[in-house]
Amino acid sequence: MDLRPASARPGEQQVTTADAFRDVYGTSPDGTWAAPGRVNLIGEHTDYNDGFVMPFALPHTAIASVARRDDGLLRLHSGQAEGGVVEVRLDGEPAKGWAAYPAGVVWALRDAGHAVGGADIHYDSTVPTGAGLSSSAALEIVTALALNDLYDLGLQRWQLARLCQRAENVYVGAPTGIMDQTASACCTAGHALYLDTRDLSQHQIPFDLAARGLRLLVVDTQVKHAHSEGEYGKRRRGCEDAAAALGVDALRDVPYEGLDEALARLEDEEQRRLVRHVVTEDQRVERVVALLEADDVRAIGPVLTEGHTSLRDDFRVSCPELDLVVATANDAGALGARMTGGGFGGSAIILVDDASADKIADAVTAAFASGGFREPRVFVAVPSAGAVRLE
Ligand code: ADP
Ligand code: MG
Repeated sequence: MDLRPASARPGEQQVTTADAFRDVYGTSPDGTWAAPGRVNLIGEHTDYNDGFVMPFALPHTAIASVARRDDGLLRLHSGQAEGGVVEVRLDGEPAKGWAAYPAGVVWALRDAGHAVGGADIHYDSTVPTGAGLSSSAALEIVTALALNDLYDLGLQRWQLARLCQRAENVYVGAPTGIMDQTASACCTAGHALYLDTRDLSQHQIPFDLAARGLRLLVVDTQVKHAHSEGEYGKRRRGCEDAAAALGVDALRDVPYEGLDEALARLEDEEQRRLVRHVVTEDQRVERVVALLEADDVRAIGPVLTEGHTSLRDDFRVSCPELDLVVATANDAGALGARMTGGGFGGSAIILVDDASADKIADAVTAAFASGGFREPRVFVAVPSAGAVRLE
């Protein structure tokens, strides 16, 4: 198995993206921007509970070449989407399909009072779509950053993230939290982003795996179970109901030390499971932060696996493919493993020693083959830079 660190070849991709813009629109772009996908190290389904998350950026990026236009027209084209150029009139019908993500960003900016008059955009992304690696946030953030620059809006990155979340929640209609957009906008190379999703305060935590002889493998199971969106909404509503039943604003307000008492006050077993996951998961984020700050990277492995067990048994958002990755990896000598992202398919992460990376990746691939599952895509994730203007 080829386990070289994944590279999105930004330099090369940048030239291709600007050239493709010229082919599509017959003019030159005003600039080119990049925004990465992300992996969440720990803190799953906590972001819509005002809790803690800890993503880092992938080397895989969405690149956008953009030209400003001020006639109320938005033209969108993607190297990864069928159907050619999509035209959206800013005062007309909302966009559908993939174009809703970038059109939603323009809508959110304008709705917040920012004078964005239109744009021509060509996208080219190496972030796998629908793999739980946040291709949607990469697309949104690259759009927001480009428009922020071209229209001189002066917005800060956390503000761009908020607006992109609003685009995805309201315009696209996906009730997601703030983690993905903040990760794409604010991560820095060699660090994981410890984010408090209540007030968006952030700490960059050094996360240099190579220096410790470790690697983080990402396993994209290449499955997305059809019921994932409905189940996500159900979990989110369940958490809100549980918070209301406990008389708190959000589950983040249930302290870990008060968990047993809170559980005893809930009658509904379903709610108890949701609360137990969210409260213990917030505590796992804090444990991982403490371990990384103490430079004890290996020790985060078991915490990752605990997180998976909680997502599987209490929050119940895993699936056979993700469980198989985690069980196989741990049996084969991984330091720890968990599903990452919303669940019901998508990706898992595995923390491994350099020396056993190939063996563990091969074991996972072999287990998928004998389980009759589609071959997974395995790559090494290197904590990479957040969104940036390239030219
Ligand atoms: P994830 O964010 O985990 O990859 P989502 O379902 O949230 O999964 O977002 C995936 C959707 O984002 C795609 O179905 C598509 O509509 C849109 N998208 C992402 N990247 C691109 C791209 N390069 N070109 C066109 N659409 C894209
Ligand atoms: Mg997404």
